[in-house]
Amino acid sequence: MVALVYMAAKYRRHHVVILLSQPSTQKNNLVSNPLIGILGGTFNPIHFGHLRMAQELAESLQLNEVRFIPSANPPLKLAPLVSAKHRAAMVQLAITGNPGFKFDDRELYRVAADNLPSYTIDTLLSLRQELGGSASLILFMGSDAFSKFNTWHAWEKIIQLCHIALVQRPAASINVPLPKVLEIFLHNHYTENADDLREASAGYVTMQAITPLDISSTAIRNRLQNTHSARYLMPDSVLDYIQSNRLYSAGTG
Ligand code: ATP
Repeated sequence: MVALVYMAAKYRRHHVVILLSQPSTQKNNLVSNPLIGILGGTFNPIHFGHLRMAQELAESLQLNEVRFIPSANPPLKLAPLVSAKHRAAMVQLAITGNPGFKFDDRELYRVAADNLPSYTIDTLLSLRQELGGSASLILFMGSDAFSKFNTWHAWEKIIQLCHIALVQRPAASINVPLPKVLEIFLHNHYTENADDLREASAGYVTMQAITPLDISSTAIRNRLQNTHSARYLMPDSVLDYIQSNRLYSAGTG
């Protein structure tokens, strides 16, 4: 949270400049166009950090729905030990009962077809085909993910297809400076006005404060491998699935 305030303050001084240099995306003035949140991730496994972020962003940005899109073949992570099938099943269990949360398996199908890494740019192009050009797509990103955003495939084109909503992760150090290219990127796209995300279908970056939950899939995997409990870090349904399928325990996977 402190770091988020720090980041927001850091870029507030550029606010006027940002408003003067509008993103190239045309404003469409269609207030009724849907706002769709996108939470992509390895979800290895999904946990309350993911779910709370989605819930709080859905509320603060007044989204129509949030798509949970598990990555089949994450380009920037070591190959996950647990299969995409299991990770997707855990996501489905975790979001059951929330009508605003939707499971989206497009990356799983794509990898089956071409065996390429799950690039976000391809996912966004495919979402645009489904939803059209006027829906506002809002890609959620924790601060850890954003600090490496400039290493993503075709990263500079991503903002032409969606907005980005940043949240601070408690464990991410505030002292790690952003690469210069990302500072410039924020300078050009940052807005403090959430209404901008409704009025244009892509092109803005916003930062939103959420309840900081210092939970990560890595820490959960470590706990399980060391036979410690992961209860209250994730839904019980996901924990039950992990136990029934003997995932993450030492020597299995
Ligand atoms: P791992 O520990 O294996 O790297 P992770 O916990 O970071 O996994 P991912 O599935 O890689 O989970 O994360 C997907 C997205 O959710 C990323 O943008 C990440 O920053 C964000 N995220 C994950 N956990 C949290 C959290 N506790 N609070 C806020 N954002 C989070």
